[in-house]
Amino acid sequence: MTTTSYPDTRLLIDNEWSDAQSGKTLDVVNPATGKTIGKVAHAGKVDLDRALDAAQRGFETWRRVPADQRAATMRKAAALLRERAADIGRILTQEQGKPFVEARGEVLAGADIIEWFADEGRRVYGRIVPSRNLSAQQLVMKEPIGPVAAFTPWNFPINQIVRKLGAALASGCSFLVKAPEETPASPAALLQTFVDAGLPKGVVGLVFGDPAEISSYLIPHPIIRKVTFTGSTPVGKQLAAMAGAHMKRATMELGGHAPVIVAEDADVALAVKASGGAKFRNAGQVCISPTRFLVHNSIRDEFAKALVKHAESLKLGDGLAEGTTLGPLANARRLTAMAKVLDNARATGAKVATGGERVGSDGNFFAPTVLTDVSLEADVFNNEPFGPIAAIRGFDSLEEAIKESNRLPYGLAGYAFTKSIKNAHLLAQQVEVGMLWINQPAAPTPEMPFGGVKDSGYGSEGGPEAMEGYLVTKAVSIMAV
Ligand code: NAD
Repeated sequence: MTTTSYPDTRLLIDNEWSDAQSGKTLDVVNPATGKTIGKVAHAGKVDLDRALDAAQRGFETWRRVPADQRAATMRKAAALLRERAADIGRILTQEQGKPFVEARGEVLAGADIIEWFADEGRRVYGRIVPSRNLSAQQLVMKEPIGPVAAFTPWNFPINQIVRKLGAALASGCSFLVKAPEETPASPAALLQTFVDAGLPKGVVGLVFGDPAEISSYLIPHPIIRKVTFTGSTPVGKQLAAMAGAHMKRATMELGGHAPVIVAEDADVALAVKASGGAKFRNAGQVCISPTRFLVHNSIRDEFAKALVKHAESLKLGDGLAEGTTLGPLANARRLTAMAKVLDNARATGAKVATGGERVGSDGNFFAPTVLTDVSLEADVFNNEPFGPIAAIRGFDSLEEAIKESNRLPYGLAGYAFTKSIKNAHLLAQQVEVGMLWINQPAAPTPEMPFGGVKDSGYGSEGGPEAMEGYLVTKAVSIMAV
């Protein structure tokens, strides 16, 4: 099962797949083997101009399709995605590395998100506001903002697109995405389901190339009315500044550094199972991955031992091999980053309770790692590790743990474990994050808001809040004459 076919990826413009006009391509590498498995077309300005024109025409068509018909097309695409989940999952694992079960699960979750937004699009209501003049009627109308430029990363090649695409299409916008060059074929398979479902030409487009070149061309372009990005905080700040300079609406889903507060009264077994599962999912390359484990000193050793046991029970390997529960890191840059984090942790006094090393020399395998006695100065406690590393520190009072949680400029996800309702309320009120899960692993359902505060960005990618980012408000007053 570890070898299976992998397609080359082209550009999707006007519902047709084409090579870049220059013929330029980039290689795609399997992170489990380090071998080149395919190619992806590299768009230039001529291709981007074609994609922009298509997006403008697609918008004019799609905005006039009634919401129930838009929903029907989206539901058809979701059904096709479900039917193809295993095939797309195998493609995703080969380009990104995550275990096949996680990859197929991502595709199925994508179908769920698309369906939820399909229905939400039918509930975009305006208002009628009582007028001061009885001869006038005052309407508040909600309209799609226009063609969207989306930039999505390689950690969830399907779902980082789907959360943006679902809200955009349900609102009546067209959608042009620059998907990740390292994981291009699963996004292409996703968009193919929309083409097959009968989406009109130009409503979706897919390009790849040089990320900075594409974003600096699309964001200022007059056709684009909305920008949405998921990725690191430094890049997000650059793109948000560019969007601001050109008065484009923006949603920014950026980095995090999620605290996990394990209170004195926590169910330790539950805390280890839930946060350990979340920690090593997708080899820790998740923006909401638990990263700063803050454990009450009375249970710190017990928690650390159990987390080490959990980490050592994982089966590291090729994501397509039977029984693999932890795949390779998605690209070689992450291996370099992990080595640096570990060097710095050791130098600042942390103990490596398990892992801490690259495994083998083929592929980007890194052992699941647990660090204890981590200093507050250690890089791992200040910058998002984005890898399979859990860093543990003790605390004596809940106030101390909350203060540490809020110390960093990030505020995306947080986790806490406690049996006390009083503690749970205190945490809910005081931890500065966009999403907080108490006594459970992350459960980012489409009906709940998804997004961060502070340097983790703005805007939401879930719940009715996600739709707001793709809508503009028009106030109309009609006087009877
Ligand atoms: P990076 O910061 O260069 O890239 C992150 C993402 O942004 C990639 O998808 C990349 O293609 C895109 N990007 C980079 N520059 C861009 C530009 N000028 N215009 C448009 N898109 C641009 O680094 P990387 O090595 O790919 O990832 C490293 C860090 O990025 C990680 O440590 C993590 O903090 C962050 N990241 C976050 C997420 C997330 O889900 N929030 C996903 C992937 C990466």
